[in-house]
Amino acid sequence: MNFGYHEHCLDHETGYRHPESPDRLRAIRRSLARQHGVEYVAADPAPESAVTAVHDAGYVSAIKDFCEGGGGDWDDDTVAVEATWDAALAAAGQAIWAAERALAGDDGRDTPFALGRPPGHHAVEDDAMGFCFVNNAAVAAQAAIDDCDADGVAILDWDVHHGNGIHDIFYEDGDVFYASIHEAGLYPGSGDVEETGEGEGEGTTLNVPLPPGCGDADYCAAVDEFVGPAFREFDPDLILVSAGFDAHRHDPISRMRVTTEGYGALTVRMREVAEAVDAGLGFVLEGGYGLDTLAESVTMVHEVFDGREPVEPDEDATDRARSIFGDLRDQGFGEK
Ligand code: ZN
Repeated sequence: MNFGYHEHCLDHETGYRHPESPDRLRAIRRSLARQHGVEYVAADPAPESAVTAVHDAGYVSAIKDFCEGGGGDWDDDTVAVEATWDAALAAAGQAIWAAERALAGDDGRDTPFALGRPPGHHAVEDDAMGFCFVNNAAVAAQAAIDDCDADGVAILDWDVHHGNGIHDIFYEDGDVFYASIHEAGLYPGSGDVEETGEGEGEGTTLNVPLPPGCGDADYCAAVDEFVGPAFREFDPDLILVSAGFDAHRHDPISRMRVTTEGYGALTVRMREVAEAVDAGLGFVLEGGYGLDTLAESVTMVHEVFDGREPVEPDEDATDRARSIFGDLRDQGFGEK
């Protein structure tokens, strides 16, 4: 794969024992160093106009000032230093790069993966939250629509948390389909099955809030039965994966049970969906807080594009996941 990576993303220091640390990127790069076919690209930082295309200009100037003044605690868990704003622009720039390259036809071994931090999917139009300042995937999706003539962008967010920021930004937007598979009840508590979009965006939001304890079979079934069919029907030009790896069974902050192979199986599925609708496919890093499992999981995604065939889950989806699937069918989702 081709990885978007910018050293500014290491300068966003979050302090002692904060789970969202620069060590996350270092661990990923150490693991990828043992792989064939890894290319790094330092794309340009996002222009501020791309950020204000999805964020409120007043918020952008407030957070910029906050960082210029040395930063501090924006909220209980969202911490900035002076270098945070440049890191956030660098992360958003890598995400735009991934969208551009995917739309330009880079696939297979050239599939782009933006390795930025701070992550983005909790950042809402007018606020930072949940370790996130600029909504990288949302900025990239909007740039694809505005600057690359993409007719539609579909985002699968498989981070264990609901990406409330992406959800809200595109809730009434029919150009961007947002699908999230997340652990029900976890931070930030949003992402109900009944929320399916409004106005122009009616039917272009798909929330799959799985109960704690779900694993590979449940995640794969959610993609096979809901996300895949929805994306095929939406027929986007670009598919972005908001790729957090905190649903891993050994991640310290969730109770999900996805394995490293499971992330490979999900990657295979998204590649198949992208091929079926002739869309570009790019990845944007979100969360993932076990350094070893994060590094292994990103490496698994890379290996899939390098020819590895991951082990398919050998069990069926659990009844607990199936009960959510029933609710989704009630909302009109699923194979017609
Ligand atoms: Zn997360």
